[in-house]
Amino acid sequence: MNERSPGERSDLFAADWASALAGAADAALPADEVAELLAALAADTLAVAWDLPFQPEQAAKIGAALVDASLVDPVVLGRSLTVIRRQLTLDAPAAADLAIVSAVEEAVAAGYIRALRDQTRAETQRSAEELRRGAEARFQAELRHQAQHDPLTGVANRTLFLDRLAATIARPAPPAGPDGADPAAPARRIGICYLDLDGFTSVNDTFGHDVGDELLIAVAGRLRRRIEPAPGLVARIGGDEFIALVEPSGGPDAMVALASDVLTLIERPFRIGQHRIGLTASVGIVERPVAGAELADLVKDADSALYRAKAEGPGRWSVYDAAQQATDSARMALTTSMRSALEAGEFTVVYQPIVSLPDGELRGVEALLRWDHPTLGVLAPEAFIELAESSGVITPLGRWVMETACAQAAEWHRVRPGGAPFISVNLSAQQATDPGFVGDVARIMAATGLPFPLLQLELTESALVGADSRPLETLQELAAMGVRIAADDFGSGYSNLAYLKRLPVGSLKLSASFIKELWPDGPADEPVISALAGLAHRLGLKVTVEGVETIEHARQLSVLGCDTAQGWYYAAAVPGRDITAVLRDPAPARFPRPALPHG
Ligand code: C2E
Ligand code: MG
Ligand code: MG
Repeated sequence: MNERSPGERSDLFAADWASALAGAADAALPADEVAELLAALAADTLAVAWDLPFQPEQAAKIGAALVDASLVDPVVLGRSLTVIRRQLTLDAPAAADLAIVSAVEEAVAAGYIRALRDQTRAETQRSAEELRRGAEARFQAELRHQAQHDPLTGVANRTLFLDRLAATIARPAPPAGPDGADPAAPARRIGICYLDLDGFTSVNDTFGHDVGDELLIAVAGRLRRRIEPAPGLVARIGGDEFIALVEPSGGPDAMVALASDVLTLIERPFRIGQHRIGLTASVGIVERPVAGAELADLVKDADSALYRAKAEGPGRWSVYDAAQQATDSARMALTTSMRSALEAGEFTVVYQPIVSLPDGELRGVEALLRWDHPTLGVLAPEAFIELAESSGVITPLGRWVMETACAQAAEWHRVRPGGAPFISVNLSAQQATDPGFVGDVARIMAATGLPFPLLQLELTESALVGADSRPLETLQELAAMGVRIAADDFGSGYSNLAYLKRLPVGSLKLSASFIKELWPDGPADEPVISALAGLAHRLGLKVTVEGVETIEHARQLSVLGCDTAQGWYYAAAVPGRDITAVLRDPAPARFPRPALPHG
């Protein structure tokens, strides 16, 4: 046997291997390096090849080395085996050892195949891992999408809308030029349309929830097609509420144009299954510069604009207006506190004498409501009566006024039986339509002991003229019981005497402004008033003039034929006890009186 060290053999074989690998493509290492490596491996193999028992692992390394060097090619394997066989044969100590040569070749081939299989498996695993990672990423994206979108309509949800809005506000203004912000560049603006479908509940009730859902999907689709091509985002943020975020906005007019387009789009009938459904929506608009805009304010202001739009009726849009909103909020606060104010005793009634024009003798007293508000001070009725009417508080409030005023008048009646003034109570149209009103009045009269003829009810001309059958019946019933009815603020509306005559009205009250209009610069012979008084008398009506502030007014009105008067010349509205004091005084109850405030 040829005694050479593996190192010497390796040097000997390197050239052989180099020619075996020549031309093989894709080698991961330079060809001569691979040849050297293989030669070294082959030398190691050959050094132990003849030792028994035969160790195939050493030979297998040669096959694996080919694969590791990316020499995955049957031709290269074949040539390698040839190199090994030639070298082994040269070294073979005996012909019988050829079996060993075959075993070495087999082991090299087996190493080659195993390495190849391992490599393929690793690759397969690697691509499986990649696939898994891709699926995971898609899944995460899907989760993110679900967390940010409405499952029914597929448009953005509240979360995404708020995120986008926050990001828009947070984004700094783009630098305009090399010197920083361009002062001439228009400020970046943002717009929000807050949309609510009108009467959507009735769609659900009429057609069922499935149709309701389909309709919402269709609405979302129309909104998206109109708004999302613009720099906008549509989000569903409640059952039938959508919001559109537009940034940059083209200004308030552009947002209004967008809102009206959207309203028109929604009003085009929807076909859902066999149903053809007509819809309207209301839109609240907010439009302002991005700089300084606050997220919470934008949403709140859009909401209050929507509230206003809704209040104006279906199918409307409304732009947020800060001044308007401040008034609305103050009115809202006042309205909500009114009920508790009534319970807390914050309301009072003051009384203004109604006197006979020729001699100033006390005939009646008008009850006028005041609200002694804990923070706003004393409020006159014009600050809250309308709110009480629109919120319905007028019913309990008006009943309280009636009870208080009648109790007061009953006391005067006891102080001066036969000579007490009548009490004149203002009545809102709503009170007269309350079916329980006549019963209330009868109960109050019974409880206080006030005779019916000492009660007068004042209704404005418009409340009287607009009376449908219910208040008319109410007034007729009351008149039949002996209650007086007066037409308040006569001259401010229709001034239709003939019409009034058909109602159970006993007197006309001419408003202060009516008198002022006739006499802007003081009293003068005024034919309109004398004609009016004459006509009223012929129809059996008495005439009371309000707002008499001077003795000249009083004299002139008396000459013109008016019957009674009320005003600061005689007395301002005073607490009930002041009138009681006048009645206790045995002297005739005449006005003006120095003891009572004027003006
Ligand atoms: P009205 O019934 O026409 O009451 C007359 C108003 O003229 C009162 O205002 C009174 O204070 C004011 N006035 C009296 N003398 C003069 C004067 O010489 N010059 C001028 N410029 N004004 C004078 P007030 O108390 O602010 O009441 C305003 C209106 O509020 C009343 O008009 C009445 O329509 C309504 N109102 C008052 N109390 C009640 C109530 O209890 N219920 C209802 N529903 N309405 C009420
Ligand atoms: Mg009145
Ligand atoms: Mg009046």
